[in-house]
Amino acid sequence: IKKACIIDGKAIAQTIRSEIASEVQQLSSKYGKVPGLAVIIVGSRKDSQSYVNMKRKACAEVGIKSFDINLPEQVSEAELIQKVQELNSQPDVHGILVQLPLPGHINEEMVLNEISIEKDVDGFHPLNIGKLGMKGREPLFKPCTPKGCLELLSRSGISVKSKRAVVVGRSNIVGLPVALLLLKADATVTVVHSRTTDSESIIREADIIIAAAGQANMIKGDWIKPGAAVIDVGTNAVDDPSRKSGYRLVGDVDFEQACKVAGWVTPVPGGVGPMTVAMLLKNTLDGAKRTIEQ
Ligand code: NDP
Repeated sequence: IKKACIIDGKAIAQTIRSEIASEVQQLSSKYGKVPGLAVIIVGSRKDSQSYVNMKRKACAEVGIKSFDINLPEQVSEAELIQKVQELNSQPDVHGILVQLPLPGHINEEMVLNEISIEKDVDGFHPLNIGKLGMKGREPLFKPCTPKGCLELLSRSGISVKSKRAVVVGRSNIVGLPVALLLLKADATVTVVHSRTTDSESIIREADIIIAAAGQANMIKGDWIKPGAAVIDVGTNAVDDPSRKSGYRLVGDVDFEQACKVAGWVTPVPGGVGPMTVAMLLKNTLDGAKRTIEQ
């Protein structure tokens, strides 16, 4: 049996990070300015803190200045919005990121709407998402995880044009924007979700599968068309008593089975995850270049 090519997201992300580092260097020597990213975290969720730390560390590594804003769990929506507005008008901040989820008493939509679209490096502002879906329009920023999925395809030499792509999931942060990006790249796109009947037979027609359902090992080997490219966004913790932590991360795709059928497959961890962070750095750099070079 021919084995699938495993797409090494960690290595691709590392390449992108060095490209970014050298661009930051150039910007700095030409204009004496570096890109700045403000990272806002509310409360003390362990998972959010570890994501935020990872992002801050990645910034430091490529020479992006990060501004850390840690707000208490009880902060009011008005105070949080005021902070965002402050950062909107701070010239050395080129990107603003609000780590989600926010505590229940804060309306996420209201907060995200406040981020200036010029600094919306997560690409979650409705104007940026809207432009993503419109013909002939370009958003200022594309959401990081979806952008990372397309980058994995293009850097692995997989063309999207005229291919059948099936996206599993329709969330605002992954499924929907990745479907819009594939459509912009001239794929024929189908989106399946929890109310789809017989997703299996739809997925089986895909040349490209983007799995973002958050369901551990849902997609089996015999759901995959031989030779298809499989990008697994899913990051699910499953019990594993053999690990010190008691759990391990698996994707939405049964990786071992997929390796026997697919043409390409991304591992979890080490596939899409590192790309999300790399795309955040890229968006911050691009945002900074737009303002600094003006
Ligand atoms: P959500 O829970 O917001 O969305 C899941 C989507 O999958 C929904 O649209 C849901 O449908 C759909 N879905 C659920 N079950 C099924 C099923 N059995 N068949 C088909 N579709 C189904 O999750 P996110 O989009 O935020 O994240 C998806 C996964 O990606 C998670 O595992 C998350 O951890 C991971 N992730 C990884 C990132 C990375 O950087 N690697 C970044 C972000 C997320 P419906 O709309 O009907 O409810």
